Amino acid sequence: MRYYSKPLKNLISELGKLPGIGGKTAQRLAFHILSMSDSDAEAIADAIVTAKREMKFCSVCGNLTDEDPCSICSDQTRDRSVICVVESPRDVYAMERIREYRGLYHVLNGAISPMDGIGPEDINLRSLIVRLQSEDINELILATNPNIEGEATAMYIAKLVKPSGIKVTRIAHGIPVGGDLEYADEVTLSKALEGRREL
Ligand SMILES: [Zn+2]
Repeated sequence: MRYYSKPLKNLISELGKLPGIGGKTAQRLAFHILSMSDSDAEAIADAIVTAKREMKFCSVCGNLTDEDPCSICSDQTRDRSVICVVESPRDVYAMERIREYRGLYHVLNGAISPMDGIGPEDINLRSLIVRLQSEDINELILATNPNIEGEATAMYIAKLVKPSGIKVTRIAHGIPVGGDLEYADEVTLSKALEGRREL
């Protein structure tokens, strides 16, 4: 990169911080951006700055939103007696895509992972317990990812919530073990939701 002038080097290095973007791709993107019109390049920069400024976490469910509470939490037509617990806002989009689930969500923004030093207090769990105590919830669907961290998180929440008498279910393993919810196709995800079992 020593042949590159500083602004170009900087652009390549910043783009290289994005997931899935290696050195070669970062270079290709940087040259592409420089070949764009000023207004197109500025639109990209502006979209990043605006999204970062305006998107925040919903104070109720933890989903990413530009209004608080988010549109799902404030939608009175949804079934307010069911909460589906997911790890990330991307999983909410995945679930919404199948158009079968009409309940509410709770986004943990992480999963319990003792190996990485992430405990229950490091994820958005306390606010879930508050919701379960203050809202009239009949069922809690645990839709964390079917990997070690997701399973550990589901088990932890199930143990915590079961004494309250709320029905706790886990989505079925239509989802490949070790896989991510967000990459599951719609049929798989729909089947997984349908085949959920009580914990
Ligand atoms: Zn919300």
